[in-house]
Amino acid sequence: MDAHELTTLLETRRRELGEELARLTERPADPVGNLSFGKRIGDGTTEAVERINTTAAARSVAASLAEADRALVKLAEGSYGRCDDCGGRIPDERLDAVPWTALCVECRARRSR
Ligand SMILES: [Zn+2]
Repeated sequence: MDAHELTTLLETRRRELGEELARLTERPADPVGNLSFGKRIGDGTTEAVERINTTAAARSVAASLAEADRALVKLAEGSYGRCDDCGGRIPDERLDAVPWTALCVECRARRSR
């Protein structure tokens, strides 16, 4: 994949993730009206749980979005393909599989521990 294709791919991913994030974080049109009529006790709990799930999903989408952003910066500054943590070369197979990664497999594993 050349730099131009890569930029297009990353920008597409960033746009899609941005749209998804907007969808996940948008509020119902009239939350107060929804809550005040015809609801049984306990419904509020379900809504709270749904809100938490949405927050977790939004957080994960936001993290992916930040990765795509970072990859575009790395492409622009010429450090694409190098690990942000150890400075080592990220193998091509990994970049093919996860083009937006800024970390080699070892550093990614260390961070998620
Ligand atoms: Zn590394």
